[in-house]
Amino acid sequence: MNLNKIQIFDTTLRDGEQVPGSGLNSREKVTIALALEELGVDIIEAGFPISSPGDFKSVQEVAAVLKNTIVCALSRSVAKDIDCAAESIKHARRGRIHTGIGTSNQHIKYKFRSNQDEIYERAIWCVKYARNYTDDVEFYAEDAGRTDNEYLAKVIEGVVKAGATVVNIPDTTGYCLPEEYGEKIRYLIEHVEGIDLVHVSTHCHNDLGLATANTIAAIQNGAIQVECTINGIGERAGNTSLEEIVMILKKHQDLNYITGVNTELLCPLSKLVSETMGMPVQPNKAIVGCNAFAHSSGIHQDGVIKNRTTYEIMHPNEVGVDHTSIVLTARSGRAALKFKLEKLKFPRFNSHLDTIYERFLEEADGNKIISDKQLITLAEGVVSRTLVREQV
Ligand code: MN
Repeated sequence: MNLNKIQIFDTTLRDGEQVPGSGLNSREKVTIALALEELGVDIIEAGFPISSPGDFKSVQEVAAVLKNTIVCALSRSVAKDIDCAAESIKHARRGRIHTGIGTSNQHIKYKFRSNQDEIYERAIWCVKYARNYTDDVEFYAEDAGRTDNEYLAKVIEGVVKAGATVVNIPDTTGYCLPEEYGEKIRYLIEHVEGIDLVHVSTHCHNDLGLATANTIAAIQNGAIQVECTINGIGERAGNTSLEEIVMILKKHQDLNYITGVNTELLCPLSKLVSETMGMPVQPNKAIVGCNAFAHSSGIHQDGVIKNRTTYEIMHPNEVGVDHTSIVLTARSGRAALKFKLEKLKFPRFNSHLDTIYERFLEEADGNKIISDKQLITLAEGVVSRTLVREQV
């Protein structure tokens, strides 16, 4: 096993699908799962089978179509959940059961009305129970982000001994700071006996906008698996965004990590997920937002036209976008205007560039963006007026 290969665990179809009003039917889940397999993710969490008969069916159908990708089903530490999860992935080529329990004081006290010892026993029990069905069992310590490290290490050591093959350390509430979360992963790697035999996984939420930063901190401290979603969708403020992690690791080769993701499929897949779920992507979203490769200010446009590396750290083609866009606004300059007119093959504009630019600025001040069509009309107006004047 190459230790620097990061396992991409996509949970778009489970945590991502928890976005209110964006539920997916079986057909839609199968379409997205096949696209995720083509993208090159390692594990697809397809759903939470006990939650509804429809979700059970979706996980079953996803399990049936995947060729190499591991299909994962979520469950609580409850026998009927685990039975149901196991049943849903029965015919998978490679199936995983994801089970676990909350370990923070808040979860133990208010959700389970229990104590640390009882929760420890339940954690061990659910892993052993799931191992009756498959030898690929992932344990999650829900709200590990707010769980005391010493108790967390005890639980993780227990579940590793009980047969968990992946241990997931979720920052369920998106509370941790990158340094704190990184230290938590490091603490477990240094204190849990047998942890070198399993994969340590991250599962971060974006409540404070730190999901990606926390995930990277965890990788740098020894986590091997990353749980993430396309477009960063998910419960509340969402999960770690898959495209961000993959591109960070790709652009920072000095970090020495690789993923199996074909990055040229990132933007097409982002669109597929956004359209299928009826959930628009914010224009300024990193990597996949429609403005991620758009330049609108004169200084930036001039730089990018001379050489794109002045203001772009990645080529749009790398993530499946066919071109950089130069957007004409009142902040644009002559260089961008000239570039656009040349691109639109507007004839003999050079001697009129200054006049076109003046007219353009008047128009642009009243409009947010000047479209290609508006620019042609404007340039035609300037050129024909000049011609008429020259003839007279
Ligand atoms: Mn989650």
